[in-house]
Amino acid sequence: MLKLAKYDVVIVGGGTSGCACAYICAKNNLKTLLVEKNNFLGGLMTGGLVVPVMKSSVKNYNCEYYDKLVETAKKYKAQVTYKDLNDGWFNPEILKIVLDDLLSSEELKNNLDILYETEVLEVKKQNKFINTVILKSNLLSIPIEAKYFVDATGSGEFSQLCGCNFLHDSNLKQQNSLRFILGNVDIDKFCEFIKQVDSDENITNTYRNDRDTMNEIHFTTASTWDTSKYWALDKYLKKGVQDGILLDCDRSYFQIFSVAGAKGEVAFNCPRFANYIDNPFKYSLELKNARMAIYRLYRFVKKYFVGFENAIIVNIAVQTGIREQNRVKTKYIYTKNDILNQKEIKNPVLEANYPIDIHSGEKNKSVLLKTVDYKLPVESLISADIENLCVIGKLVGADFETHSALRVQKSCMSMGEAIAKYIKGKLFTDTEV
Ligand SMILES: Cc1cc2nc3c(=O)[nH]c(=O)nc-3n(C[C@H](O)[C@H](O)[C@H](O)COP(=O)(O)OP(=O)(O)OC[C@H]3O[C@@H](n4cnc5c(N)ncnc54)[C@H](O)[C@@H]3O)c2cc1C
Repeated sequence: MLKLAKYDVVIVGGGTSGCACAYICAKNNLKTLLVEKNNFLGGLMTGGLVVPVMKSSVKNYNCEYYDKLVETAKKYKAQVTYKDLNDGWFNPEILKIVLDDLLSSEELKNNLDILYETEVLEVKKQNKFINTVILKSNLLSIPIEAKYFVDATGSGEFSQLCGCNFLHDSNLKQQNSLRFILGNVDIDKFCEFIKQVDSDENITNTYRNDRDTMNEIHFTTASTWDTSKYWALDKYLKKGVQDGILLDCDRSYFQIFSVAGAKGEVAFNCPRFANYIDNPFKYSLELKNARMAIYRLYRFVKKYFVGFENAIIVNIAVQTGIREQNRVKTKYIYTKNDILNQKEIKNPVLEANYPIDIHSGEKNKSVLLKTVDYKLPVESLISADIENLCVIGKLVGADFETHSALRVQKSCMSMGEAIAKYIKGKLFTDTEV
């Protein structure tokens, strides 16, 4: 066992929300430890290949980290700004290096330590306070004492070790996705093809601009089996099913994007599969089937999409795309009514307008409900059970539907930033007392 180390804040999970929290904590002179089980940072943004950031925030609350991330990614040519002014088109692989750079920048004044390939083994509590955690890295145990702890694991593993309660307000589950990237695609040729097949700017659009996209063409397009819209690409997917290359379920959700700083690469936000996170046996079977679906989709696009003839599989996500997992019981549970009624909140964590977005496995059951600007209170990020534990990102204390709006990356980053400032405020007040 290593010698006891002391911090102001320990953040468990160095993904989307955890990195934002660590950066702002360290910048605010809090002695911070970030614990990550992978050998890289970024979580779903890197290991999950989840690109691009969805446009979400309409106001500038707690966006300092996000802006800094965009600025740093630009230096590495790992970012483009799309035609809708969304500057969150990142390269998921280079982002790992961008995050290392950002989180070791001079402005953090050595306030931040990062432990990779490390997990929490044990939590020691007294009444409703966590005192110490025992971390595990390469067979070594590391005892850590801290004033505040933040669960940014996405899964709630740390909150579970702390004995926290979770929300069980719905039998519905969002579908998972196993994302992947194909390389060696002739994107110029493909863009010509989709512009002819689908000129609907709402579903398919392309963009090339000297300043924003480094003069490379970028695009997005999609198709689903839902009948609420006309999906121009569906006729190709149906043909793939008829020809025995695809299964009908492969038509359920198909979405692709070009990738910043990776000419010839296309990122797939599919295949989707059932969310059996409460049944590891079914879950594992689904995951294996998802990989088979990737192979079907790969064969399909090579055969039917102009520009994909020489495509190769270059990356299958190492982190499964689980949209909704375990939401933690917090001091305030944010609800759909709060969103719809635009609940007024002083000092909000974020102000956003990303819609309620539920990916269902059943035809015509998915939901994309437009919202007006809504604000999130900080109490939805503070554990109801443990006084010095905050939860951020996918763990936010919100009902099932509201969670589907809040989970997008920019909102998760704002949550991390807001909690860093909350902890700073608490420790500063405590010192004064
Ligand atoms: C399939 C899919 C598609 C999506 N599409 C989009 C999109 O297009 N745009 C968008 O903006 N949002 C999208 N989202 C939502 C968004 O990507 C996620 O909700 C968000 O990234 C979650 O951030 P997080 O910090 O909660 O979790 P993560 O980013 O997953 O970070 C969690 C981190 O914790 C680490 N960890 C876990 N357990 C431990 C442990 N015990 N000890 C140490 N570390 C641990 C993990 O390795 C990981 O690095 C999508 C999500 C999914 C699943």
